Amino acid sequence: MKKLQLVLLLCFSPFAAGDGLPDLGDVSQAVLTPLQERQIGQQSMLEIRASKQFLADPEINDYLNQLGYRLVENSAEPGLGFEFFALNDYSINAFAMPGGFVGVNAGLLLTAQSESELASVLAHEISHVTQHHLARMIEGQQGDSLISMATIAIAILAARTNPQVSEAAIVSTQARSIQKQLNFTRTYEEEADRIGLQLLQKSGFNTHAMPEFLERLQNSTRLLEGNAPNYMRTHPITSDRIAEIDNRVQKQPYRLVPDSLNFQLVRTKLIAAQKTAPEAITYFSEALGAQNFGNPIAQRYGLVSALLRNNEIERAAQELAILRKQAQGSQVARNNPMIETLAGQVKRAGKNDVATLAFYRTAVQNFPQHRALIYDYADLLLQNNQPEITVKLLAEQITRHPSDTTLYDLQARAYAMQGKTLEQHQAQAYSYAWQGNLYAAMEQLELAKQAGGSFYQLSSIESDLRELRELLDARGKP
Ligand SMILES: [Zn+2]
Repeated sequence: MKKLQLVLLLCFSPFAAGDGLPDLGDVSQAVLTPLQERQIGQQSMLEIRASKQFLADPEINDYLNQLGYRLVENSAEPGLGFEFFALNDYSINAFAMPGGFVGVNAGLLLTAQSESELASVLAHEISHVTQHHLARMIEGQQGDSLISMATIAIAILAARTNPQVSEAAIVSTQARSIQKQLNFTRTYEEEADRIGLQLLQKSGFNTHAMPEFLERLQNSTRLLEGNAPNYMRTHPITSDRIAEIDNRVQKQPYRLVPDSLNFQLVRTKLIAAQKTAPEAITYFSEALGAQNFGNPIAQRYGLVSALLRNNEIERAAQELAILRKQAQGSQVARNNPMIETLAGQVKRAGKNDVATLAFYRTAVQNFPQHRALIYDYADLLLQNNQPEITVKLLAEQITRHPSDTTLYDLQARAYAMQGKTLEQHQAQAYSYAWQGNLYAAMEQLELAKQAGGSFYQLSSIESDLRELRELLDARGKP
C-alpha cells in the first residue's frame, strides 16, 4: 500500500522549509523548478477539490482530459502530466495553474460554440504551462520585489480561480502590487496565442475558431458593460491581440471540423444542470420538436436524463429505446460510453437487477475506462452483495486514477461488507486525504490500526500516519 506515499510526495507543501517560508536560497537563483511548480499546483488542486467549486462529474472531466491530451500530445512537452478539470461556475473563465492543472468553468464550456473553440482555449492554457510563464514571472521579480513564494502562490491561486475575490483575499499592499504583475503580461498572452495556435493546427482543429471565440467574448463584454468575464481579466483581450491572431489565421484554410458527440453531450448535461427536472423536460422536448436546430441525439439524451431525474421511468425507457436506435444508425454516436452510462441508469431505475447486472458486465467490458459506468456498476454490485467482484473491479481503476475519491469510497464499502475493517478504514483515509481533509484521514488510519492486521499492513499504516503528520506540520506554519 504505497498509494499515500505517492500522494504526499507530490502534494508536499511548497511552504515546508524552516520558518514556514520556502527556502529560496540565493536570490539570484530564485527560479521555480518543475517539481516546485507541480507541488504548488497539487496544493492548489487539493483546495479546489475540497471546495464546492469543483465539478465532480467524471464524464465531464474525462471529456476535458481527452480533448486536452489531443493537444498536449503535439506540444513541446508531451510527457508533462496535465490534469484538466471543470468548475461548477457559470461565469466564463479558464485558467492554468503551475504544474499542468487546467481549470475550465462550466460557463466557458457553454459559451464555446464548437469543439474547436473550446480546444483553442485549452491550447492557450496548455501553452502558458509548457512555456513556464509562472516560473518566468517569478524569475522576473528581482531584488526587493522578490517576496516569499508562499505569498506568490496564494496570490496566483486567488487571482486565477476568482479574480473578483482576489482583492479581498490578498490583504497586504505588497501582495496586491504583486497580483497586478501576475496578470499575464501582453508578451505572455501573445506567446500563448502563438504556440496555442500551432497546437490547434497540429491537432487537426479549425484554427479560425481561436479569433472567433475571442471576438465572441469581446462582444459579450460590450453587452455586459464593465462586467467583463473573468477570463478577460486574467487573459486581457485587446483588439490588437485578436488582430494578431486573425493575421496568422488568414493564411490557413478554414477547416470544417465536426464536433464530437461527447462535446454535445457534456454541454447538454451542463444546460440540464441549470434547470429543474420539469424545466429540462420541457426544454429538450421543445428542442426536439423544433427539429432544425441542434443535435437531436444530444437533445434526446437530455430528455432521457431529465425524465429519469423526474422519476418518469417508463417514459425514460421509451425515449431511451429511440435514442439507442438513433445512435446505432449514426457513425459518431454508435457505441458511445455516455449513452451507455445513461442506459444503465435507466435500467437500474427499472429495478430488474439480474438483467441490469448482465448489462453492466458487457458495458464495462466495452468501456473499461469510463469511470461513470464503473461507479454505477460497483454501486449496483454492492447493493447485490457482491463485494469480491467490486474489490477487483476497483483495484484496477485506482491504479489508473489514484486521486479519485469516489473509487476509495466504494472500495471502503466493499471492504466493510467483507468485514475487512483495517482495509475499510485505510481506503476511507485515502479518500479523505485526497479531499484535503487530513485530520479525518488520520482518524481513519487510527481506526485501521485499532482493527489490527498483519505486521506489513500495520507498518504501512504507520508510515502513512507519519507522512500525514509531516504534511500537517508543514501546513500549520504561518
Ligand atoms: Zn492567457
